[in-house]
Amino acid sequence: MNKNTTITRNLFNKGPVIIIKWHNSKNWPIRYISPNVSILFGYDDKELVTQKTGYKDLVHHDDYKMVAEELSTAIKKGEKTFQHKDYRIVDAAGNVRWVQDVTTIIQDEDDNVVSFICYIIDITERKRNDEELRQFKAAIQQANHIIYITDNNGVIEYVNPAFVKNIGYSEDEVIGKTPSILNSGSMSEQYYKDLWSTIKKGDVWQEEITNRKKNGEIYTAYQVITPIKDEDGRISSFVAIQNDITERIHSEQQLQDMKNEYESIFNNSHDAIFLIDVDNGNEFRLRRLNRTHENATGLKTDMVQGKTPVELLGNELGSKIQENYRRCVEKAGAISYEEELPLPTGIHTWNTWLSPVLDNNGRVIRIVGSSRDITEEKKLRSQYEIFFNVTLDMLCIASLDGYFISLSPTWSETLGWSEDELKSKPYIEFVHPDDRKATYNSMKDLERGENIFSFDNRYLCKDGKYRWLSWKSYVNRDEGLVYAVARDIQDRKEMEQELERLSTTDPLTQVYNRLRFTRELDMEISRVHRYHHPLSVIMFDIDHFKKINDVHGHLVGDDILVEIVSLVNSIKRPTDIFARWGGEEFIILNPETDCQAAFTQAERIRKKVAEHEFPAVGQVTISFGVTGFDENSDDERTFLSRVDDALYRAKNLGRNRTELM
Ligand code: GH3
Ligand code: MG
Ligand code: MG
Repeated sequence: MNKNTTITRNLFNKGPVIIIKWHNSKNWPIRYISPNVSILFGYDDKELVTQKTGYKDLVHHDDYKMVAEELSTAIKKGEKTFQHKDYRIVDAAGNVRWVQDVTTIIQDEDDNVVSFICYIIDITERKRNDEELRQFKAAIQQANHIIYITDNNGVIEYVNPAFVKNIGYSEDEVIGKTPSILNSGSMSEQYYKDLWSTIKKGDVWQEEITNRKKNGEIYTAYQVITPIKDEDGRISSFVAIQNDITERIHSEQQLQDMKNEYESIFNNSHDAIFLIDVDNGNEFRLRRLNRTHENATGLKTDMVQGKTPVELLGNELGSKIQENYRRCVEKAGAISYEEELPLPTGIHTWNTWLSPVLDNNGRVIRIVGSSRDITEEKKLRSQYEIFFNVTLDMLCIASLDGYFISLSPTWSETLGWSEDELKSKPYIEFVHPDDRKATYNSMKDLERGENIFSFDNRYLCKDGKYRWLSWKSYVNRDEGLVYAVARDIQDRKEMEQELERLSTTDPLTQVYNRLRFTRELDMEISRVHRYHHPLSVIMFDIDHFKKINDVHGHLVGDDILVEIVSLVNSIKRPTDIFARWGGEEFIILNPETDCQAAFTQAERIRKKVAEHEFPAVGQVTISFGVTGFDENSDDERTFLSRVDDALYRAKNLGRNRTELM
């Protein structure tokens, strides 16, 4: 056996090429198959031949049709040898194997196809590698990461689409260049030196790098550079992968800003803030105190951290405090309360708010507490309450929309209404109807922000009477509140009215005096000029009164004066102004009355008096003067002097008569 035959045999027995000869008939019966089929595919070569196994049965059923078609095409074309497309056969263990098949077509003398000889190589492994490579390429192409590959000198050979999209350079612009085109100038020389020495050594480099995009934008990326070695262990290229972390850095910065902001609020708050860790919903341990809290209580975070209220303040007080924490946990919402605590800085009253911090399951894991020292405020409040309760003035706070909000007890004492009754309706409803317009106007002034220092109106009392109140009101528009002091001036008003009455009334007869009369006359004269109504006046004087005094005494004279006045009052109209002019002379002003009507009235009085029987005296007579006002020529003086003249004439003409002039 020569050397060549041995090589050939070894090739068939152990080599990678399987040779099959199968007959061109149904089922493709195998006539010969090289023994290496047992090594490569696990079949027994002899068995395949003796049992007339068809090659068709070895071909994967999905590929059989394709293989058969290629055969008939090749025969039709008259080809002697051709290569199939890669197809699959199934090995003895049932595994699918990819094969490459070069087939030779054997014909007889009459050109009939007798059989086929196939040279088959198992390419399953290569197929797998090809597939992996394809997938790997696709992955790089589709990756969101920026990927570029350089040769071992750092010259860019490949960039992926994410590189083009993110950095802005097209492939043409970067291939052939070095990554220094990305240099932002913000990395040190040393950085690049370290990078190069690492990857040149064959080690992987992973560090953050700040680069510049084509448009000048600076970005920061986490970069991994992996040296790729060839079979000989020499570095052939570098693969660089960058993960842009600019956004992450930005949000980390935002988080840091927020943290700083929170710290600033926490430490600079005027409220004493404390954080409590909640374990199992019922264990409370102090976590942190802010500066205000530390200063106000004299407790320091270091001293109290991790301690429970009981550990810190003893059983009694600690339990009380924990009770509030528990309430907050149970409510899973904010609560507030007032508490008095003895602390190293003394006993203080605090207004405390607790708000829970919940985890994702809605469990309270922490409590944020915020306390305000209201010791001073409370003292002030109680002082204010004392003043409010003891003042003789009527203090109140009202809303700008017209309701009382709080009232000192003097209100009820003065008006008889309970506080609730006073608050139940708009306060304008308590105001005397005649004073409502003025009250509305003063409310408008308050709405405009003007304080009111002097305003009087009448308020309804529970007994139906009205009392005069005098107001000073201060408005706070921001609060929408009016702070007012009212003083009950009913007595003063009554006194003033009495004084006014006294000063204008004749004490003996209770009719107007001369002062009041002339005031009324002034007014009536000006009304005549305005409305051109008639105006008349009657003046009368008792006849021979001196004699009555002389005979019966001065007191009887007084009684007669009073009695005559009452007779006149029974006749005169309510609008007539009746006054004592002096001594035993009287005057009646008749508005909207001409002198003829006045004359008639004078006559009626005269007759009534003349017919009257005065006790002890008997008959008394009176003389009357009457005149009308001439709006064109008269003034007060001429008007009065003419009526005086008329009276004088009545006396001269014999008394107990009326003269009209
Ligand atoms: P004649 O008819 O002219 O009026 O006579 P006469 O006496 O009434 O005279 P005259 O009117 O001048 O006198 C007024 C008198 O009236 C004088 C005074 O004594 C008296 N008299 C004035 N005022 C009062 C008073 O208030 N009470 C009393 N009792 N007498 C008064
Ligand atoms: Mg007289
Ligand atoms: Mg007289």
